[in-house]
Amino acid sequence: MGDTPLMPVAEARARILEAVKPMVPERVPLAKSLGRVLAGNVVAQRTQPPSDLSAMDGYAVRAADVTIVPARLKLVGESPAGGAYPRLLHEGEAVRIFTGAPLPQGSDTIVIQENTESYGDYVIVREPAKAGAHIRRAGLDFREGEVGLPAGRQLYAADIAYAAAMNVPVVIAHRRPKIAYFSTGNELVLPGTTPGPNQIVSSNNDGLAALIEGAGGVPFDLGVIDDDVIAIQSAARHAQDSDMLVTLGGASVGDHDLVQKALSADGLTVDFWRVAMRPGKPLMFGRYREMPMLGLPGNPVSALVCAILFLVPTIAAMQGLVAPIRMTQAKLGKALGANDQREDYLRATLTERPDSLPVAEAFERQDSSMLSAMSAADCLIVRAPHAAAAAEGDVVSVLRLR
Ligand code: AMP
Ligand code: MG
Repeated sequence: MGDTPLMPVAEARARILEAVKPMVPERVPLAKSLGRVLAGNVVAQRTQPPSDLSAMDGYAVRAADVTIVPARLKLVGESPAGGAYPRLLHEGEAVRIFTGAPLPQGSDTIVIQENTESYGDYVIVREPAKAGAHIRRAGLDFREGEVGLPAGRQLYAADIAYAAAMNVPVVIAHRRPKIAYFSTGNELVLPGTTPGPNQIVSSNNDGLAALIEGAGGVPFDLGVIDDDVIAIQSAARHAQDSDMLVTLGGASVGDHDLVQKALSADGLTVDFWRVAMRPGKPLMFGRYREMPMLGLPGNPVSALVCAILFLVPTIAAMQGLVAPIRMTQAKLGKALGANDQREDYLRATLTERPDSLPVAEAFERQDSSMLSAMSAADCLIVRAPHAAAAAEGDVVSVLRLR
């Protein structure tokens, strides 16, 4: 088994993304739709503004009446937001008007308050106003029947406000994929319990939950499972209502790494199980019964890095998004040696510079068990397989972590 060729990272990701499809659509109340991905267009149910409105506080007048200033006009009424002046505005008349209020019929411009003085029933206009000034025309923002937000769009706050304005209180979005996962290892206990003398606390369950949640998935935590074929099989069966199964640990080739063995005897077909990367060589992907199955390495940093590179984009794809891994550039703060055949993801700090690329500096120690370094890292410096040694100041690709 040891001489199975290692799969390149990009190919591994492409194969995983190919194996998943977007979840079916469901109705989502707009107020709960942040981050959701539209499965259908959002169509405006009304025209906005519904009629010509004033964009300022001031007076609605006829431009022809204020070409020569000062002009003295008769104040005949008012048009507040939510109300309207009910009559036609005639020559020589002005209507007090407020921001967002409908333009009275017969008027064609707004004189802003600052350019006027009022005396009882009269207004003195001190500046001429062009026809159309300070008026928001009906339909300026959008018109009934227009596609405001297209299918495939991920909703941010402004989109939600926009849908609300279109009078669309419920949107159609892809269901969030439910991702079941468990850790394997006799040494593991859950956080908050008291570990035995040879035990450690599982960091991967909660770390993975956070990544899944942040990517738009619904985490389903099946806990920590002993290194035992039957225990692993029965844990996996609890995933049957989920959209994807993720295992943590037990994925390499040690005597106690039983995930592949246990699940292969229970409906798993493996697509690949070794990727040319560091951290995280023992990464498995396949199909367990009907669902995609991702086997992440147990080392906490490897688990997180592999989840960021493979699971997060998969959850995006399951919601109908195309979310490539977005690299940016940085300058090395410290030289790096030549790389071997595995794509390397180095934990590093990233310092912004006002007049150049940010500076990335890899931590001295890159042990894949060190969560302190992963937590302190701002980015991962990505080094291609066989990259030559790089000097301080050289430009490299980085993947920002926060
Ligand atoms: P494995 O992939 O099972 O060989 O695990 C590799 C290393 O990661 C071992 O040192 C494990 O103790 C550790 N490990 C595995 N799973 C977890 C976990 N859920 N939380 C923290 N450490 C883990
Ligand atoms: Mg183990």
